[in-house]
Amino acid sequence: MVFDARRSAAVLADERGTLYRRARQELVLCYPNNYRVAGASLGFQVVYRALNSRQSISCERAVLPDDCFDDGWRGPLRSMEHGQPLGAFSVVLFSIAYELDIPHLAWMLQAGGLAALVDDRGEQVAPVIVGGPMTQSNALPLGPFVDAVVMGEAEDALEDLLDALEADLPKPQLLRRLAEIRGVWVPSLHGDAVPNVLVARGAHIPAHGVWTSPHSEFRDMALLETSRGCPRYCKFCVVRAPASPMRSPELERVVNALDHGIYRDAERVGFVGAAVSDWPFIKGALRAAIDRGKGVGISSLRADKLDEEFVELLQLGGYRTLTVASDAPSQRMRGKMMKGLRERHFLAVAELARTFRMKQMKMYLILGLPEEEDSDLTELIDLCGQLSTRVPLAITISPFVPKLHTPLAEAPFESIPVMMKRLKTVQKALRRRVDVRFDSPRWAWIEYRLSQGGRATGLAAWQAFQAGGAYADYKRAFAELDADDASEQRAAVAAAERHDLWALRGAR
Ligand code: SF4
Repeated sequence: MVFDARRSAAVLADERGTLYRRARQELVLCYPNNYRVAGASLGFQVVYRALNSRQSISCERAVLPDDCFDDGWRGPLRSMEHGQPLGAFSVVLFSIAYELDIPHLAWMLQAGGLAALVDDRGEQVAPVIVGGPMTQSNALPLGPFVDAVVMGEAEDALEDLLDALEADLPKPQLLRRLAEIRGVWVPSLHGDAVPNVLVARGAHIPAHGVWTSPHSEFRDMALLETSRGCPRYCKFCVVRAPASPMRSPELERVVNALDHGIYRDAERVGFVGAAVSDWPFIKGALRAAIDRGKGVGISSLRADKLDEEFVELLQLGGYRTLTVASDAPSQRMRGKMMKGLRERHFLAVAELARTFRMKQMKMYLILGLPEEEDSDLTELIDLCGQLSTRVPLAITISPFVPKLHTPLAEAPFESIPVMMKRLKTVQKALRRRVDVRFDSPRWAWIEYRLSQGGRATGLAAWQAFQAGGAYADYKRAFAELDADDASEQRAAVAAAERHDLWALRGAR
């Protein structure tokens, strides 16, 4: 169903917490995916609230239609609250979480009546400003499409950003002002010199959600942050310590939130954070929510943090699937990745799941890590076999995608045929015993290219998307890019050699 005015009205009728405001200056905050995914982003909700916090500014939302990928949708894209095209707003903002959403961002601009490329938008056209979790890794591919990027955790930059927006300046002046804010990258002024990622102060934590909806991924769950960052050092992770240190609010601040705003009436509360089970007060928060008659959800569980008390609380809060991450197939690889978990932790989780009558244990894994061997897969298959005798087991395997700002930033991406072979090996060995699912290695490769690439990679992805958006389109677009790079490099080497030759002749 297309996300037209009728569909918007129906979704908003079911939503609690919608902010219907209109002010002198109207902004729109977009999420480059559909409403179901956007609603699961606490960061999107936090920025929506912040942009509605000033008297003279109001902010609406825009998302992609649910089935836009199926029916060749071309727009028009309108805001959810008042049905305005993107071009009607004075500033267009985006929150982006994943590299694969970069072409969607360009698509939304086009469908909203704006040119996708920043160079094709004149000075009179609304500036496009982007933030979100993806900027913690590599923002460069956003360069061809946007006027400014807030790097990393935006809270500390938001007041300055709002001051700048409130000043209602002509675009060139606004961009100059934004370029002076710490952590804001303005591609037209900074070139490729991207500023350091911002790390928010503890005062902003916990972040509160704004709305709940039966149509969002977590269905009527009110999202509440418990902590930010992580105290652990997993080598592949963008939110590892010390770059993204654990920031832990006191229990009181989280519990107090339960009696206010959307949490007061919500039937379920989702505790959100990269390392919720490492937050020292998580059991107290679960108990407080359960005492108020609420169901609970948690975004991630560390296998070594679960004990009977913890799992009993989860059970009381309606939790039916114990989800943990091994993130590596064997003890050897968990050690190399600094995961800090052992086989016995996963076996203990399976026992707890059985004791507390969980429907299922779920485990997230990464394959294709550097130096991975067949013996690592054998160990994984053996462990999964053991777990599945205790509790129904489901595993989800993601191909390893090296990310910038991690110790594995320069690690290779495993070839797609090798990844497919490994995934099939695991699937075949665990057939009828374990529910094995995996993310497509092809799409992981596209994510990899965008994770490592620059502006030209962003442009190539957009060309591929316009050409149909299939894997073959991306493959072709990136191959052309590589060929151009290679010929540029050859030309540079030839020029350097000529220069040497001339220098040599000159010396004679
Ligand atoms: S993978 Fe999880 S535990 Fe490891 S550093 Fe990242 S958030 Fe922390």
